Amino acid sequence: MAYINDNFTKIQHRYLFAEIAKRVAAYKEANPAAKIISLGIGDVTQPLASAVTQAMKKAVDDCTTTQNFHGYGPEQGYDFLRSKIIENDYAKRGISLTVDEIFISDGAKSDLGNIGDILSVNNIIGVTDPVYPVYVDTNSMAGRTIKYIPCTAENGFTGDIPSEKIDVMYLCFPNNPTGAVITRQGLKQWVDYALKNDTLILYDSAYEAFITDPAIPHSIYEIDGSKECAIEFRSFSKTAGFTGIRCGYTVIPNELKIQSESGKRVALNPVWNRRQCSKFNGASYISQRGAEAVFSAEGYSQTRATIQYYLTNAQIIRDSLSKSGLEVFGGENAPYIWVRTPEHDSWKFFDHLLHRAQVVVTPGAGFGPSGEGYIRITAFGTRENTKEAIERIERSL
Ligand code: PLP
Repeated sequence: MAYINDNFTKIQHRYLFAEIAKRVAAYKEANPAAKIISLGIGDVTQPLASAVTQAMKKAVDDCTTTQNFHGYGPEQGYDFLRSKIIENDYAKRGISLTVDEIFISDGAKSDLGNIGDILSVNNIIGVTDPVYPVYVDTNSMAGRTIKYIPCTAENGFTGDIPSEKIDVMYLCFPNNPTGAVITRQGLKQWVDYALKNDTLILYDSAYEAFITDPAIPHSIYEIDGSKECAIEFRSFSKTAGFTGIRCGYTVIPNELKIQSESGKRVALNPVWNRRQCSKFNGASYISQRGAEAVFSAEGYSQTRATIQYYLTNAQIIRDSLSKSGLEVFGGENAPYIWVRTPEHDSWKFFDHLLHRAQVVVTPGAGFGPSGEGYIRITAFGTRENTKEAIERIERSL
């Protein structure tokens, strides 16, 4: 008889985006003429940089000839991309890494979920709350215990260092959903905690490219000792509009070792390599050529201009809503703005904005208990929609 992995039958039904879709559909049915603007889901709206599309077209052309055709690539990714990542994302910030420490993937979400394959089911998992749901769901699927660490206005949405022992800790800065960033000093406290308690940090820096303040670290490896306790996940999705193209990468330093259940210290890099070689056949040659072009002079300036476009949206949202008397957080080094709701109930404010302003946002309660009392607004809309949505919100208050 076949048995299902029962964790899937017990997993919390994630109703957030389904519930949003249901409420929007009901409103549309009752008000068919309404022009609804969504600043809810975190997908991008601006097209790919021309340097990227040209590189991908060239990669397609390569595959039309026998000499340049590319079939299965290396499971770890092509060296042309891995070496560009080392040079641009790390060496320029004084971090030294080698090509074998970089694993190219089809996006950060897959790796953030799949990393659990090489970690014991007995690990206690820590997540900052409110949280990007992937960390919670993938660990629930594996049957692990999850501890929520509240991130509040009082602690700058970075979470207090826990007094209890956490085995694996997810950190995400700049943060989705709060848009919060962490200082070097703040991140050092997490690294010190990890080194002291033998905790593995899974550091999600998918929004690193939105950091404008030079005091804010882009990588956890800017902190001494972190190569012995942290894996870093990055993505081209928000850096360069690859949400549909798919490309990301994971860094596992050679120094990183954790305990095996038999008591030995085991290096994680070769174990992840083994996992990838067995379960993953590499990201597509075309998307990797596109990602490589992000590091060209042209690709860099084009993708930076798009990031600036979103950051200007974020500033418009922040400035306008705070002038209207709302308390706003994030949006300065991140594409998300975290807004305290006038009344505590975030679904109530969601309904207010849908009905009075025809604007869709994301209720904070959907991201975890500490998200209640807030909504998330994304800066990934078009300028026109962003301005119109914010004007409508202001009028509705
Ligand atoms: N990490 C965070 C915090 C995200 O918000 C997202 C996407 O929204 C991802 C990772 C996933 O990125 P990718 O598109 O590379 O899978």
